[in-house]
Amino acid sequence: MNKEKSKEIVDILKEIITNPAPELDFKNPFELIIAVVLSAQTTDKRVNIVTKELFLKYPDAKSLSMADYDTIYNIITPLGLAKTKAKNIIALAKTLDEKYLGIVPNDFESLVELPGVGRKTASVVLAVGFNIPAMPVDTHLYRMAKRLGYIKEDEDILKAEEVYKKYIPKNEWANAHHLFLLFGRYHCTAKNPLCKDCKLKIYCKYKG
Ligand code: SF4
Repeated sequence: MNKEKSKEIVDILKEIITNPAPELDFKNPFELIIAVVLSAQTTDKRVNIVTKELFLKYPDAKSLSMADYDTIYNIITPLGLAKTKAKNIIALAKTLDEKYLGIVPNDFESLVELPGVGRKTASVVLAVGFNIPAMPVDTHLYRMAKRLGYIKEDEDILKAEEVYKKYIPKNEWANAHHLFLLFGRYHCTAKNPLCKDCKLKIYCKYKG
């Protein structure tokens, strides 16, 4: 990979993905961080259905921090991993309420210390919630990084983040994240990617 090739790839992605925006519904950083934690191993569509009810009942960190575990568990059950997610979002809300006066911090180090918040979630909150340059790498971006030659097949997700950041200009990280994510979600899927008419074929190392 090099900067020129990466720019060509991103430019083609811009032609394919004409509206590179988040698909999770949220009104503020609190709703965003909860929605991202809930989005593990499910679809954004399902999360949006669940958070509509959740945020109506628990609009901020204080109310969610005092929520009853069973009630939260029942609301978020359709998303899967409900035990862990219920525990995490209540603990996350408690920490936000007690340590940050209910306000989501806008620095990476503080974010990754919050319950249930990993590197990817912290980066999404920075990039999408605060407009601070960050490159969240999820399963789609990791797959894209391998198929499009940003990293080798046996390299890990941290390497993918490092290499994306190296070859994509900092002011484009957040937008590029949406481009790769949506391309991975709807075109270059894990199984049966839409290779036939893919404009990125010349860069692609996927052997099918
Ligand atoms: S050719 Fe297929 S595997 Fe390669 S980037 Fe395009 S859709 Fe993905």
